[in-house]
Amino acid sequence: MKRDIHLVILLLSVIGCSLASLTLWKVMASRERALEEINIHGLNLTQALSTYSEGIVRQSSLLLLGLVERLETEGSGPAQIERLSQLVSRQQPLMPQMSGITVYARDGRWLMSSNRPVPVGANSSDRAYFIHHRDDPSREPFIGLPIRSRTNQEWVITISRRFNDAQGEFAGVVAVTLGVENFLRLFGQIDVGQEGAIGLSYTDGSMLVRYPFREQDMGRNFSKSPIYAKYLVDKSVGTASFTSSLDGVERLYAFRKSDKLPLVTTVALGKREALAAWQLEALLSALVVSALLVVTGAIGWMLIRNIRRRIAVENQLRQTQRQLLDSNQQLERLAMHDALTGLANRRSFDETLLQETSRTRRSGTSLALLMIDIDHFKRYNDTYGHPAGDACLQQVAARLSGCLRRPPDLLARYGGEEMAVILPDTDRAGAVVVAHMMLERLALEPIAHRSSPFAQVTVSMGIACASGSELDCWQSLLERADQALYVAKQSGRNRLHVD
Ligand code: GH3
Ligand code: MG
Ligand code: MG
Repeated sequence: MKRDIHLVILLLSVIGCSLASLTLWKVMASRERALEEINIHGLNLTQALSTYSEGIVRQSSLLLLGLVERLETEGSGPAQIERLSQLVSRQQPLMPQMSGITVYARDGRWLMSSNRPVPVGANSSDRAYFIHHRDDPSREPFIGLPIRSRTNQEWVITISRRFNDAQGEFAGVVAVTLGVENFLRLFGQIDVGQEGAIGLSYTDGSMLVRYPFREQDMGRNFSKSPIYAKYLVDKSVGTASFTSSLDGVERLYAFRKSDKLPLVTTVALGKREALAAWQLEALLSALVVSALLVVTGAIGWMLIRNIRRRIAVENQLRQTQRQLLDSNQQLERLAMHDALTGLANRRSFDETLLQETSRTRRSGTSLALLMIDIDHFKRYNDTYGHPAGDACLQQVAARLSGCLRRPPDLLARYGGEEMAVILPDTDRAGAVVVAHMMLERLALEPIAHRSSPFAQVTVSMGIACASGSELDCWQSLLERADQALYVAKQSGRNRLHVD
């Protein structure tokens, strides 16, 4: 039963542990899957956005290349500039992302602007892109950091090229301005959540456009951010996860460096936000499993309680059974023994005598019977009192039973102060030996009896013996023994007489 409880506990523990570990494993695996999906999604977005940005920059470069070609072959006189202006105003609608095209003379003066009219005295010789082209003979296009447009105060990015004069000297700059607003409009259509961000930056970490728009980030250098300082060092495409030092939000980043242009596109999603769906699923799984565990635990508890109850009932039954057996044994003892002396009682004596008589008759051996009567016992009672008489009976019984050695021998209280001994397989001589031992025992361990002529308690004995063939019934054996006792009494007591 105890083993059953242990088995139930073991079974429940195994079920509980398996259920919990399986759920944990499933939840962790689905988290990994969710992160993987977010990363793939981010990488796809960077791919699309980077293609878009590269396309605009390339288109602008090509347009600039055509304008440079024209300026270098035709010159930058007022008539040529006027024709150029008409050409630009025809081309501009084809590129809605473009805010404007401006041509600068070698001293920074504005020669032409697609956003007419040219402001009086406008000069951009202080702009970074102008200084770059003036000082660097390279004919490659230059992507400038975001600046505020001098015509409409909006944030713009410039793509510019230098043009030379016939001597190959610096003659001026042609620049396309791209409104940051256009990029923000596109980026804004992509759902990156509350904590997400999309960025387009220079490879050195200078921010060109960031969504959501933050004034302070325009042109800001993020080269210290892990994306540039760690991840972009050895790979151009990848994903990363880290906590932003600016706002303390942990984000999942996907980044992609352009193959041909010095541009980096990043898509960032707030990790907590991105994993919200997974978190909900994990929470539901945990709830369901907890409920299952509680139900399993409750069933197990009821099972254990039932087993415990059964154990208690069984213990009680066992105890009752033991008590019953004890009571039965006690009853049996009471039924077959004399309460005062502890010897076999009259009933037991009668049954044994009957059995031994028929056994002796069957086996052909001999059976001896001793009838014993305490001498002058009435006087003993009268002298010492009845309770002392009882004690005397007990002492005599103890001394006499000490003389019997063989298990089948039976000493019984026949009634009053009379006792009887059944000696199976015993002949006359054997019975006499036992009787003498008894008399001697009483003589050697005397019990004082001042009213007796012997001054001590004595007994008289009658012995009868019969072999199997001459034993007709137990009554006759008893009568003979009784008769012999009578003779012993008549002969002076404290002696034995053999029939
Ligand atoms: P005798 O030598 O002829 O046998 O004389 P006796 O006095 O022993 O014989 P009697 O039959 O006259 O008296 C027997 C007495 O034994 C009478 C009775 O009070 C007493 N007696 C019988 N059973 C018990 C008992 O259980 N306890 C006590 N204390 N006395 C008993
Ligand atoms: Mg008597
Ligand atoms: Mg007597």
